[in-house]
Amino acid sequence: MALASGSTIGILGGGQLGRMLAMAAAKLGYRTIIFDPDAHAPAAQVANEHVVADYGDAAALEAFARRCDVVSYEFENVPVEAARTIDAITTVSPGPQALEAAQDRIVEKTFLNNAGIETAPFRTVDSDDDLARALAEFDGNGVLKTRRMGYDGKGQRVFRGALPSVTGGVFASFGSTPLILEGLVSFQREVSVIGARSANGYVVSFEPAENVHQDGILRSSSVPARISKFTHDAVNDAVCAILHGLNYVGVIGVEFFVLDDGKVLANEIAPRVHNSGHWTEAACAVSQFDQHIRAITALPLGEPFRHSDCEMENLIGEDINRIEALCCEDGVVVHHYGKTEARPGRKMGHFTRLSARSS
Ligand code: AMP
Repeated sequence: MALASGSTIGILGGGQLGRMLAMAAAKLGYRTIIFDPDAHAPAAQVANEHVVADYGDAAALEAFARRCDVVSYEFENVPVEAARTIDAITTVSPGPQALEAAQDRIVEKTFLNNAGIETAPFRTVDSDDDLARALAEFDGNGVLKTRRMGYDGKGQRVFRGALPSVTGGVFASFGSTPLILEGLVSFQREVSVIGARSANGYVVSFEPAENVHQDGILRSSSVPARISKFTHDAVNDAVCAILHGLNYVGVIGVEFFVLDDGKVLANEIAPRVHNSGHWTEAACAVSQFDQHIRAITALPLGEPFRHSDCEMENLIGEDINRIEALCCEDGVVVHHYGKTEARPGRKMGHFTRLSARSS
């Protein structure tokens, strides 16, 4: 049975994703409490309440959990311990096992490979020597990333044709934290799928979006993606396997590299709503945010039908000043995150330009 209207959804994390989840929850008649240490968290502007406390504060987490009928999260770096503390009191959806799978790139890729989903080749790197060895195995080409806490391309370095001698001091320059070297993938394009699974195991996915990244940050997502039916089926099958494999409840975002022959490699799992799914707010009757709230409250999942072609673009830093001009355009859905300070590289908002459906 679905959660009764007026029930309370707790959201760990108060950024723009939490904000859009709170808005979707309100549309469906639910109350929200945001848990975020930042007193100025953008989600708090549109939620019923805001608990300002640290994710390591067990007493605050327990008190929060007791007031929520279900708890979800808007970012994958919520400490698993915090999710477990809450899960002992009330349901956390998706469950802590999804956080575990997504927080460490080695665990994530191992999970994917075990589920029969290919990824870029990878090696663990815990020293400069490890890096030299791994680079030699990958002909000097690779992307070095922190295993944990990386996002928007932060904590990454690309090597092209590197000699082993360049590795001196690199491990220390990453803060001597556990790293992963991935083979450098020569991809034709990048796509992502936003899928959803209900508690009774029903899966629906939105159409794949074609993504463009710049400096590791998503710039735009376009739908339909320029991919074959073979690729479309491959990414959908992979998302289905991931959702079932994690006994997942809620919305997930999965990023893929599409190779020249149409085969795909999975890059990253985001156990939450995802930036590359913001287009659904404008081009579908049920957005990824609505879908997540439906999944975690046991309401029926929505049909992921897309009524228009579209391109979503992020407004990063000073781009947010384009809002007024964008509001003058027909067929553009504009979204401002309510952040006051437009720092370089900070996601401040996005817009989706709609056009007639072509296919
Ligand atoms: P990530 O933080 O893993 O999502 O990486 C951000 C972006 O960096 C990706 O969307 C790609 O554009 C690029 N990238 C990451 N890993 C690789 C790789 N192994 N090979 C080529 N490009 C990559």
